[in-house]
Amino acid sequence: MSDTWTIRKVLTWTTQHFEKREVDAPRLTAEVLLSHVLKMSRVRLYVDLDRPLSKEELGSYRALIERRMAGEPTQYLTGVKEFYNRPFKVDARVLIPRPETELLVEAALRALPKDAPSQALDVCTGSGCIAISLAAERPQASVLAVDVSPDACALARENAEALGVAARVSILQGNLFEPVPADARFALVVSNPPYIASGEIPELSAEVRREPHLALDGGADGLALIRRVIEGARRCLQAGGLLAMEIGETQGEAVRELLQAAGFMDARVEKDLERRDRLAFG
Ligand code: GLN
Repeated sequence: MSDTWTIRKVLTWTTQHFEKREVDAPRLTAEVLLSHVLKMSRVRLYVDLDRPLSKEELGSYRALIERRMAGEPTQYLTGVKEFYNRPFKVDARVLIPRPETELLVEAALRALPKDAPSQALDVCTGSGCIAISLAAERPQASVLAVDVSPDACALARENAEALGVAARVSILQGNLFEPVPADARFALVVSNPPYIASGEIPELSAEVRREPHLALDGGADGLALIRRVIEGARRCLQAGGLLAMEIGETQGEAVRELLQAAGFMDARVEKDLERRDRLAFG
């Protein structure tokens, strides 16, 4: 029967439909959503291109396509985002982990020894992607992770459990450094704080505006939270410890100055893979 919806036909149709509606990465998005509905890997779709979809499968898939076209991010629809080679559960409670942030993890790991105990602090943990990746990569490290949103903390805890590091990642709800014990000292303070200027938020894509406002809004100049992270880190880093932060591409110079003013030695900014200022260290 020629009007049977096979995997091949569904992928072709959706890709064209997404192209017309200017959805990002049309083919990839179609594959990711279809493999989610059919519970098979993307590679498997190509082995079974002639497999017909059942009525139920087609119904579930259509519902996802409609939500995607209404601006819901693909990762909220599938409920998962790969970060530093591990699957993190994500939903509208948290920011979707970004590939740029993997560079922050990579850099932060340098401050944690491979075969000795160490303590790290992740401020604004969201899904827990940074804290959990650090703990998973450094089996002797203990990580304290803080987020102001109780919903984000709940999800970060689920991720820590699912990825087997719950015993070494403590997740505390509170504003920035508020829940951190006064006498705690860390080898590493890491943060991907909200750093978008409030006025720029309405210009973000429909997808990004589906993410928690709290996770994006960095105040009038985008630096409000970065300032407070620098201030807090200064007090709880041990001697020789590292502060590693993600920043916006236009904030490099300003953040370097803030770090220097706070007394950080060796304040520096590094670029991401697209050569935009993205990481700051002190
Ligand atoms: N730490 C989380 C991440 O990097 C959340 C960051 C945030 O909510 N600003 O994805």
